[in-house]
Amino acid sequence: MIRQYELVERVKAYDPNADEDALNRGYVFAMKAHGSQRRASGDPYFSHPIEVAGILTGIRLDCATIITALLHDTVEDTGVTLDEIRDLFGDEVAQLVDGVTKLTRLELQSDRTKQAENFRKLLLAMSEDIRVLLVKLADRLHNMRTLQFVDDSEKRKRVARETMEIFAPLAERIGMQGMKDELEGLAFAEINPDARDSVIARLEFLRDEGGNQVPRIAAELERTLAKADVVAAVSGREKQPYSIWRKMQRKNIAFEQLSDIVAFRVVVESVAKCYQTLGVVHGAYSVVPGRFKDFISTPKSNGYQSIHTTVIGPESQRIEIQIRTREMHEFAEYGVAAHWHFKQLSGALARPEGRQYRWIRELLEILEHASDPEEFLEHTKLEMYQDQVFCFTPKGDLIALPRGATPVDFAYAVHSEVGDTCVGAKINGRMKPLRTLLHNGDQVEIVCSKAQTPSPTWERFVVTGKARSRIRRFVRLQQRAQYVDLGRAIVQKGFRVVGHKFSKRALQRVLKTLQFKTVDDLYATVGQGVITGRKVIEQVFPDLKLKEGKVVSLTRRRAKRAEAGEHAVSIRGLIPGMAMHFAGCCHPLPGDRIVGIVTTGKGVTIHTIDCETLESFTESPERWLDVAWDQDPESIGIHLGRINIVVMNEPGSLGSLSTVIAKNLGNISNLKITNRSTDFFEMLVDIEVQDVKHLTNIIAALRVTPTINSVERARG
Ligand code: MN
Repeated sequence: MIRQYELVERVKAYDPNADEDALNRGYVFAMKAHGSQRRASGDPYFSHPIEVAGILTGIRLDCATIITALLHDTVEDTGVTLDEIRDLFGDEVAQLVDGVTKLTRLELQSDRTKQAENFRKLLLAMSEDIRVLLVKLADRLHNMRTLQFVDDSEKRKRVARETMEIFAPLAERIGMQGMKDELEGLAFAEINPDARDSVIARLEFLRDEGGNQVPRIAAELERTLAKADVVAAVSGREKQPYSIWRKMQRKNIAFEQLSDIVAFRVVVESVAKCYQTLGVVHGAYSVVPGRFKDFISTPKSNGYQSIHTTVIGPESQRIEIQIRTREMHEFAEYGVAAHWHFKQLSGALARPEGRQYRWIRELLEILEHASDPEEFLEHTKLEMYQDQVFCFTPKGDLIALPRGATPVDFAYAVHSEVGDTCVGAKINGRMKPLRTLLHNGDQVEIVCSKAQTPSPTWERFVVTGKARSRIRRFVRLQQRAQYVDLGRAIVQKGFRVVGHKFSKRALQRVLKTLQFKTVDDLYATVGQGVITGRKVIEQVFPDLKLKEGKVVSLTRRRAKRAEAGEHAVSIRGLIPGMAMHFAGCCHPLPGDRIVGIVTTGKGVTIHTIDCETLESFTESPERWLDVAWDQDPESIGIHLGRINIVVMNEPGSLGSLSTVIAKNLGNISNLKITNRSTDFFEMLVDIEVQDVKHLTNIIAALRVTPTINSVERARG
């Protein structure tokens, strides 16, 4: 534990004007307030705030922040009030402590509603004073450093996950690279100790194998630069186990090259020297293409600046080199704290501003637009608690979306109209599909068409609440339109069956009896299958009571007619999945003879006319509907054909099966083994085809394949 005089000395070392007296009082106050409380480690509790203060001296924060760190848990964990703190340490410290306390309460909240509200306060506090966030990060860092003392393994895991998901990214956003690395490293050790151990073991092995290679290379680089009159401090730094692991996961590669594990850092005195260094390095060694990045001319969004390049270095190893000035180096190490420090030195201690705070303001805007905390949490919990993607409109406006968001989410975030009519997206200037995952910093331009409407398939990949609710609403409306179309066709056919001309006026006369407001309402309900077309016809023509027996024979005739296509309801324009479904038992294909079964509340299900499932509907003839395929070949999309195959159980037989199907332009979408013996496999294969002719061709091709015993279309 850092002793009192030590802490004061550390602060005075970088801030000679620090209020020594206040620091001393803060130290003693924390000790007294926490009294005999203990940490899980068995240490006295007050060691914690003192260590937190120590961490913050490491990034040279001002006196008020250090005192805040000392007092940060007193309001929440002891009887101390904010008023007392204000009296003893002044407004600035009291305000900072208040901010940190709110963040702490947020952490402790389990109730969702309160969490949302407090999180809002938290962000407000943060945006008012970034030092609150710095204290909270240091607090979390010390808690992570002592995490192993917590007995409850569930709690350890939760804290580690939270650190990984919330605090490390926060640290990164404000440029605190060192803090972020340590937080991630500690969390990684808790979340995935095996992975971490194996990365470290591999690092050790490579280190032994190279034998002092890193300092040798650094010295060699320094000499090369000196010859060209560049005075530089070169050091080699191993990358963090977690960042190596993540890179291995992301790129699915093993690390073998030195460039993957060590970054050589060249610190020079000016920007001009940075580019001169780059010239010397590229002149002396071969450049590895595709690895050069100039973050000096275009800094990262958190303010980071450096030139990165990879060359085949002195020992014929790929090495990564980062070139920067001392000031850039400071910033890379201390992030926003360095920024703050420079400001303090220049006497302009102002409210935080500049690009690294922009995301906080954007978050605030989102928060301000959500009125109800519950709704806010529902729509933004992903946005808040997991990493986000920040994308830009072509005009440079920032749109914050949850991770996994797509251009459709982006479009709806811009405006509902834009979402409803989007047909495509240009991401960083290139046309991409609407389901493309967006990444941080993507510039997204939505391409709209007045003719476009939201597609129900979008719902499968959107992640924002707004997009989802708009799409659902639209689908509901469209579904109704589909039911109306289907219902109208059913009723019109009903008129024909009883030999009458269709008359809308006749329908209007029975609306009241059937308790509908409009003819469309009536159609929609018939289309949904809630009332039958026959019932409507019976109302319109009361004298014409259809007898059961007659209807059954009618049904048979209907089946015959379906073959002829006469009087059939065309399924043209009906969208699968809305008012019409293809039966999963027989997988009808264009060209098959088909029949529809009206299902209450779901519209019509299409079966092939020889499907066994139809047996179970012989008792309810009123549900049968003659349907016919749309004759327009343009409208034929991809359909699913299902076949039953028996193949010989021998090497290569599955291979030839898939080859034959692929050669005939079929695409296997599912394969299920239903029976296996020593000699044979029996399986169901779903194949995407255009129509029944296409499937028949594939079946024929399979039948002549030697390793295939039999092929049958699956029925019912
Ligand atoms: Mn604490």
